[in-house]
Amino acid sequence: MSVADAVALALCDIAPVAGRELRSLGDALGRVTLDRIDAPGPLPRFDSAAMDGVALRTADLAQAADLPLAGTIAAGDGPSDLPAGRAMQIFTGAPVPHGADAVVMIERCRICGDHVHIDHPPAPGDNIRPLGSDQAPGQVLIEAGTRLTPHHIGLLAANGVTEVALRRKPRIAIFSTGDELTEGACAGGQINDANRPMLLALIRAAGAEAVDAGVIPDDLAASAEALARIAPNVDLIVTSGAVSMGGKDHLRAALDAAGGAVRGWRVAIKPGKPVLFGRIGEAAYTGLPGNPFAVHVGFHLFVAPQIARLSGTAPRAFATFPARAGFDWTRKPGRAEVFPVRFLRYDETGLPVLERLGRSVSGTLLPLSGADGLAMVPGETCDLRSGDALRWQPFSQGDIR
Ligand code: AMP
Ligand code: MG
Repeated sequence: MSVADAVALALCDIAPVAGRELRSLGDALGRVTLDRIDAPGPLPRFDSAAMDGVALRTADLAQAADLPLAGTIAAGDGPSDLPAGRAMQIFTGAPVPHGADAVVMIERCRICGDHVHIDHPPAPGDNIRPLGSDQAPGQVLIEAGTRLTPHHIGLLAANGVTEVALRRKPRIAIFSTGDELTEGACAGGQINDANRPMLLALIRAAGAEAVDAGVIPDDLAASAEALARIAPNVDLIVTSGAVSMGGKDHLRAALDAAGGAVRGWRVAIKPGKPVLFGRIGEAAYTGLPGNPFAVHVGFHLFVAPQIARLSGTAPRAFATFPARAGFDWTRKPGRAEVFPVRFLRYDETGLPVLERLGRSVSGTLLPLSGADGLAMVPGETCDLRSGDALRWQPFSQGDIR
């Protein structure tokens, strides 16, 4: 399968999870809205001063540049009236007194005792933020199916919204497989389980609920039993290892034995070719290979879109951001390839120039440690020269040095 076909297959029978939860705004960060949220009222709620200064009637300045002052209005004060022929001192955010049609900024006023002198008369409307000018009542604040970010939280708070209807978080179970896996001190042929902690972290960072289902031994019956036991409790099962051709690679058979179905196997991608897609009961199943870098790549290519679909947001294509190679590379064509990259500089057209990290496809996660993202080349690429166009996926655009 091509990567595109595999992504389509990964998503083909996944629907957003059912389940509605009302949560306070403080618990809503990273969660997905179920309904469209409309503005309950106008913002600003009243005509308000955009500057510290003096509120007045512009027409009063036709006769005189000097006006007597009639008090002060601060932010938080209630409504007031501007007496005829007078001005009032006003602070930013305060309600403009009825009758005033402009605010003159304090830097342009000369206040002498209980009078103000205006050298440059303002135009009507100057430095007033009219009621509803930021936002009309009923205006769409946040569309349904939006993952809430800090600015959404701020917008809802500004509108007095304290509770939000959210979609339940998708529940995703993680298994590692392999008799060699342990945690902590290793003896003999043991190695530490890297994939399960990494996948649990990736899933939590993607806004889903991660269920740690432990390590399955390299045994067909134990694998089938573990899959059948967890499937009714989750929306998606993600495993690592045991999907290749070796005699200990039991997951394809285990999926069958557990009453599930294989939907597809093997993707033209490097690393991580033997990816397995399937279903068991109501749960989707994605079997990533064992090599930890392949697990990381497989998560971004296939599992992240599955989480998006389960969450009710739109899955995004992987590695669509334009960049340029800052390296020369000759490779064997055939499979698309993903590799860690580091940001070097911007070129004269403003595109990021990337360095390729990690000389070979290996099990190590070390090259990712200094990486700013992942780049992907299509299967047909065999020669990449410094300055050639490239597509990449920054881990976080804000953090690029
Ligand atoms: P497999 O696909 O099960 O043959 O695994 C491929 C390679 O990845 C082997 O060298 C495994 O030891 C290694 N591997 C499998 N699972 C893990 C894991 N959870 N953490 C670290 N390495 C793993
Ligand atoms: Mg294995």
